[in-house]
Amino acid sequence: MEESKECYADVIVDISHEKLDRPFQYRIPERLRDKLETGACVTVPFGNGNKLLKAYVVGIGNVCKFDPARMKEIRGIVQGGTGAEDKMVALAAWIRKNYGSTMIQALKVVLPARRSVKRLEHRTLQRAMGREEIISLLGESRRKKQVAKERLLQELVEQESIPYEWVTGKLGVSAQTVKSLERAGAVRVISTQALRNPVSLAATREQKKRLSDAQRRIVEEVMGDFESGRPDTYLLHGITGSGKTEVYMQLVSEMVERGRQAIVLIPEIALTYQTLLRFYNRFGDRVSILNSNLSPGEKYDQCERARNGEIDVIIGPRSALFAPFRNIGLIIMDEEHEGSYKSEASPKYHARETAIQVARLHGASVLLGSATPSLESYYRAETGEYKLFTLKERLTGGELPKVHTIDLRRELKEGNRSIFSRKLQELLADRLSRGEQSILFLNRRGYAGFVSCRACGHVMKCPHCDVSLSEHSAGRGGFLMCHYCGYQEPKPGTCPICGSKYISGFKAGTQQIEEKLREMFPGVRTLRMDGDTTRTKDSYERILSAFMGGEADVLIGTQMIVKGHDFPRVTLVGVLAADLSLSVGDYRAGEKTFQLLTQAVGRAGRGDLPGEAVIQTYQPDHYAVVHAAAQNYGGFYKEEIIYREMMGYPPAAHMLAVQIFARAQDRGQALADSLASLTRRNFDDPPGPEGGCRPGETQGTVPQVQVIGPAPASIGRINDIFRFVFYVKCAKYDKLVQTKDLLEEEMQKRQSADELVQFDFNPMNTM
Ligand code: ADP
Ligand code: ZN
Ligand code: ZN
Repeated sequence: MEESKECYADVIVDISHEKLDRPFQYRIPERLRDKLETGACVTVPFGNGNKLLKAYVVGIGNVCKFDPARMKEIRGIVQGGTGAEDKMVALAAWIRKNYGSTMIQALKVVLPARRSVKRLEHRTLQRAMGREEIISLLGESRRKKQVAKERLLQELVEQESIPYEWVTGKLGVSAQTVKSLERAGAVRVISTQALRNPVSLAATREQKKRLSDAQRRIVEEVMGDFESGRPDTYLLHGITGSGKTEVYMQLVSEMVERGRQAIVLIPEIALTYQTLLRFYNRFGDRVSILNSNLSPGEKYDQCERARNGEIDVIIGPRSALFAPFRNIGLIIMDEEHEGSYKSEASPKYHARETAIQVARLHGASVLLGSATPSLESYYRAETGEYKLFTLKERLTGGELPKVHTIDLRRELKEGNRSIFSRKLQELLADRLSRGEQSILFLNRRGYAGFVSCRACGHVMKCPHCDVSLSEHSAGRGGFLMCHYCGYQEPKPGTCPICGSKYISGFKAGTQQIEEKLREMFPGVRTLRMDGDTTRTKDSYERILSAFMGGEADVLIGTQMIVKGHDFPRVTLVGVLAADLSLSVGDYRAGEKTFQLLTQAVGRAGRGDLPGEAVIQTYQPDHYAVVHAAAQNYGGFYKEEIIYREMMGYPPAAHMLAVQIFARAQDRGQALADSLASLTRRNFDDPPGPEGGCRPGETQGTVPQVQVIGPAPASIGRINDIFRFVFYVKCAKYDKLVQTKDLLEEEMQKRQSADELVQFDFNPMNTM
């Protein structure tokens, strides 16, 4: 009987196979016991014939899972694999180690989507009517505001057939829309066996711009480092319109000329048709896209094309990072501060750090770009870990808007009880009289106002999720809804606790603002964009293009409206309550508010007309508000980083959230308590001389290791699962990884199906 530790390994024999779900166990021979790590590539005898196969270690342990007498042994370790597959496995191992999950979970993240049905043929969409008839259909869908259909028909006016993956990818048209056109006899879908790229792009190649001196210097430095074998990570700080995308495209084309591939990451929400079109026009059919519009089969096809060398550039959100290119030269991450770059599912990897790791494996450069860089990236640029570039001038012209910060406390004191300050009312009236457009921005979702009793203070909550229910006005008398689990109940006429009639909502949703605006300015044409009006991708674009087309005077919406899009006719932006994002219980609240306000203010005056912005707030002196009003990133950074250093928050230190999920409240609480004290004990009694964090590793006053909590999560229950969280802070990331390993081991010992622990390193949100 083998008694020593860690003598069995789970291996995966073929990572390109569905069998991924089923690892095989092998014995680790004595001579390999100290050398073997999770993620290592090994050779094993497999099957009846004991054929030697390459395999990857996904787990190591000391529990033998079946008859030890029949268990085979690992033959050897394959040293320094460099194939595409080895790189993927190495990357998965890195993700597993640094963010916490099983090796299988990590492999599933990095491996391209598998197609559920074997589909070898390629499909094309062909015109089934004459060009004239297509044109008349085009006119009809234009009138009906069917934006996606319109795009597809437009394309079909130009070309007789298009590859199907374009339809869903580049054009963002749903399969349903295609079906309806097929039924109408306008198009037919043709399946062909060996047609890979049957249509050559109509050459509307975009003219390469002559780069400005500032742009050219960036390209030269990045390529210079790359050529001399020292690819690096760069942060490009430049306001919107300063020419960042032009720099991206130039760098991509330099890389492609050198036979390397490029990945361009864009947050899903900014992945607009216009952005894509710029890349398509420049790189033609050598560029492809991975986004959530694609079916698994189509995703698989795009990955195949990357693998086969048919494309050089992939554009997409976070997951595009795992496109199976052979020889990546450059990874670009636009809007690098966006929260959507962090995965919300375990392993909760951040695409920025993961991109840097991918680049390391390929010898590639990484370029991060933003108008409002994350504190993390700017800090690393300041400390010399990244190289910093700045583009200061707007190439599109248009002056920065004039900003009025309005103190809402004073408005109230002086008798204005409306949600619009007097300044905002005055400017809105002015814009309406001149026929210019305005945007009203509320950092809140739908009719998010909770319902409470003014007599006793009782708040209406979801019985399953422990969150406030939101009031919705549709239907008789309206109803209350939970935005986590969808639970609904009728709106109560009286308070269920004290019976008072004074139970009502805090009227601060976008819908409420729309109503008030219509009362104040009869005849005003409004559009509303929030979680409720943009359930589908199509509706999002429909609202944007309607506003762009001048069909409304005022667009009211949540953060969606301040990202990505340019509205040349907007000359006024009103932020209704800056405090809504400023008062969230999260150490990133100031940063998020600064970013949102800066983006919102920047929406005004993009065209020829000068713009103005109004920021309404109860905290007009808060530095996030003051510096956003002045569009002063540097000023904001200086104050925010002092706060982070004082408090030991990232990026001044690292923070690990240990999240506990449990079916029973008491057991969840007990588990949270016991894991937190295990963590505390571990650091009070450091193992060996290397243990513990040495002070002085950051400029801040961070103690060596700090364990905070546990506490019930801010939403203590979702779908009848109780949630607890505790935080561990330390200047050294390694220590947090060690904590995670310790807790993972502990959870493995417990083997409970009713409790689950997840890790979130440097979390973007409080749980
Ligand atoms: P960003 O990505 O920073 O918002 P863009 O690259 O989109 O900026 O540039 C803003 C506008 O300026 C675009 O219309 C672009 O075509 C134009 N532009 C960028 N660089 C140049 C250049 N060197 N010469 C002329 N126009 C440029
Ligand atoms: Zn009451
Ligand atoms: Zn609920």
